[in-house]
Amino acid sequence: RAKAAGRRTWRFFEASMAADLEARLAIEADLREALPGNQLEVMYQPIFALQTNRLSGFEALLRWRHPVRGMVSPGVFIPLMEETGLIEAVGRWVLEQATREAATWPAPLKVAVNLSPLQFRAADIATSMLHVLSQSGLAPGRLELEITESALLQSDGGVAEVLQAFRSTGIRTSLDDFGTRYSSLSYLLSFPFDKIKIDQSFVRDMATRAESVAIVTSVAHLANQLGMATTAEGVETAEQLRRVREAGCTEAQGYFFGPPESATELRRWFDEPSRSDRILQAVL
Ligand code: C2E
Ligand code: MG
Ligand code: MG
Ligand code: MG
Repeated sequence: RAKAAGRRTWRFFEASMAADLEARLAIEADLREALPGNQLEVMYQPIFALQTNRLSGFEALLRWRHPVRGMVSPGVFIPLMEETGLIEAVGRWVLEQATREAATWPAPLKVAVNLSPLQFRAADIATSMLHVLSQSGLAPGRLELEITESALLQSDGGVAEVLQAFRSTGIRTSLDDFGTRYSSLSYLLSFPFDKIKIDQSFVRDMATRAESVAIVTSVAHLANQLGMATTAEGVETAEQLRRVREAGCTEAQGYFFGPPESATELRRWFDEPSRSDRILQAVL
């Protein structure tokens, strides 16, 4: 009986693996059509400076409208684009879109663009970034590149050099999703980032876990000592905003301020400056 059950389990496993593989191959084939088929869109989520209570800029976040499946999350398709190498062309397209768009925003509003590990590893990354910037007309100081820890781990050395190259051109860099992976404080000391984005998991837990308050406060303090800014990610409530402010974070981002919006929608932030004030009044 045990043997039969084992065989059944195995067969089931085999079938589901085949189904997974099939689904994956199908989605990969569709993914190749995404850019040429105009199915990609860049959305922008507001980021607030907590010292001035002003809008400081927007993070560019990629969306894929699949003709049949509807909206597919970047959590699903970015890793596939990374594995297939498609991220190179798509990542460049995002950069072109985002910098061209941001060049039309009132200065000094900034745009933050996520850089995948594969893009970060490209030998000519700093030069090609300057090329994109000069085409867009956006000042280098208004572009921030967000890089995750996995990008640092996957690159064989040269991380500090690339970050330094960005810095010397005036482009800013942020360490994204800090605290989720193999975070080590030594990253903060050895790599010249301008900003640390503290992962939303810590922000979410601040109301219920003293450990999360301690972690966010310590990271904000250390960053400040090292001359870096800190953004609290995933701020959804007035209570969370109060706590990240108390912890000393210099910026905040999350649904409390607003979700990612289209390039057209976000213009409401410019037409109606009192919108920012109204949102922040809840906590001042
Ligand atoms: P990320 O860079 O950490 O971006 C923040 C994510 O948190 C976004 O998810 C955003 O929509 C979500 N978020 C913002 N505020 C809140 C909140 O208050 N609560 C909660 N629960 N979530 C919030 P999204 O847009 O699904 O993107 C997921 C990830 O995909 C991004 O994480 C980033 O790592 C990656 N990604 C997105 N666009 C690009 C891109 O153009 N290039 C690359 N390489 N990666 C991208
Ligand atoms: Mg990011
Ligand atoms: Mg993040
Ligand atoms: Mg994240």
